[in-house]
Amino acid sequence: MSSATQEAVTSPGVVGHLIGGERVEGGSRVTPVYNPATGQITREAQVADAATIERAVSVAAEAYPAWRQMPPVKRARILFRFKELLEKNKERVIALITDEHGKVLADARGELRRGIENVEYACAAPELLKGEHNRNAGPGIDNWSEKQPLGIVLGITPFNFPAMVPLWMYPIALACGNTFMLKPSEHDPSSTLLVAELLYEAGLPKGVLNVVNGDKETVDALLADPRVVAVSFVGSTPVAERIYGSAKGKRVQALGGAKNHAIVMPDADVDNAVNALMGAAYGSCGERCMAISVVVTVGDVADEVVDKLAAQVRELKIGPGTDDGNDMGPLVTGAHRDKVKGYVNRGVEAGAELIVDGRGILVPGHEDGFFLGGNLFDRVEPGMDIYTDEIFGPVLCIVRVGSLDEAMQLVDDHEFGNGTCIFTRDGETARYFSDHVKAGMVGINVPLPVPVACHSFGGWKRSLFGDLAIYGPDAVRFYTQRKTMSQRWPASGKRERVKFSFPSND
Ligand code: NAD
Repeated sequence: MSSATQEAVTSPGVVGHLIGGERVEGGSRVTPVYNPATGQITREAQVADAATIERAVSVAAEAYPAWRQMPPVKRARILFRFKELLEKNKERVIALITDEHGKVLADARGELRRGIENVEYACAAPELLKGEHNRNAGPGIDNWSEKQPLGIVLGITPFNFPAMVPLWMYPIALACGNTFMLKPSEHDPSSTLLVAELLYEAGLPKGVLNVVNGDKETVDALLADPRVVAVSFVGSTPVAERIYGSAKGKRVQALGGAKNHAIVMPDADVDNAVNALMGAAYGSCGERCMAISVVVTVGDVADEVVDKLAAQVRELKIGPGTDDGNDMGPLVTGAHRDKVKGYVNRGVEAGAELIVDGRGILVPGHEDGFFLGGNLFDRVEPGMDIYTDEIFGPVLCIVRVGSLDEAMQLVDDHEFGNGTCIFTRDGETARYFSDHVKAGMVGINVPLPVPVACHSFGGWKRSLFGDLAIYGPDAVRFYTQRKTMSQRWPASGKRERVKFSFPSND
């Protein structure tokens, strides 16, 4: 066990909030934070009460005027220092992720790296915020457009990427001149708080970023506050839809759930495809919004794919995330593990063939941990719950079809449209697929097509409510509002005529 891991597991207690750069407590209600590998409650996260929320929003409002006026290059310098501190403290952050989420350390490391890339992108603030200018747009008239900040932005984040998803939001929102309120997941708030503290260590002025812990009650109070003008939400579809519909008068982007299909064509390199699918389906225990949860085999490749997947699923190494030898850690809570198990039961009852059954797994020395083995279903039909619903666990469904068009129809007809991918050696097939398929992020022989930080991340259909995706160029659009100026300086002393015609260059 690394010293950073020891630090994480030997500091139990109450997890409060970060307001004005200080750790504070506030709220009499708490929610349990587990170590999912042991099943024990290691901390309790406070649910912010009304006074705490008021205090946090007030400091964000006080900080806004000066932060808005700070030259973007100075905001970027703070973000540069933040990036350096993240690099320096990465083992501490990673240990806390694994301690509360359960994912294996290597996976936590990948999560943090992808988060840091968003900080690096935000460091380009002066370039990203450049406006557009037209001299002599009309006679002696200049036109220009600026990207102005919005004010206080609220971010609400899910449990599955406690470091990365907040970093999808606030580095770029702050670079754009906004102040930020963050409400992390109540299941694993500690790494989120540590990362936010590092931003203060980098020199962030007091109140520019505030983190309040809590649950639905906290979210509702923050949404009701008129000083909060925009909301970035990432989580499940029912909550995303509710927030998108209820945050009246605010700018909202709400990213939801997924059921990502991978299509394996008869000409695919099956061994490489199966290796790629194993990581994409069972990495992080399937608790990723870009996880592959359905494999659609086209034609006679099915038996080979099923046999090769089954052999590897049976060999998955499952145990605590702190052990480098493990492929898969536990699920985040006992309740979630039981929900996933319930889906496996329902799949069997519905008549799907459970080729590998992970329900009976026991990890010696961790009998109370929230572990579940890898599950593989063959001959899944589109009407079954295990096909329609997002399970968010180590459950992979195989659907067998006869043609690419049938496979694409499945993707198109599904309510979610986050990501999809195809395994093929044929460029024409790949190009047709990427051009026509109805999903927001597409992989060609890439199982997890999560865009890098200079593109934007967003699904289609019921995987994203709102017009703009998260991070990258769309984030600059989301976190700023365009203002366009027209200016002229008429010659002094020259009297101008009244004109009633609409101004034009005619
Ligand atoms: P969740 O929807 O339960 O919770 C997300 C956040 O919303 C948390 O901060 C939670 O406290 C809050 N919340 C929960 N219920 C609420 C309610 N009724 N009203 C207001 N706020 C509420 O999601 P989760 O279980 O933490 O995360 C898993 C989900 O997130 C999966 O569906 C996954 O696909 C999705 N996800 C999507 C993306 C994406 O980019 N599309 C990324 C990561 C996770």
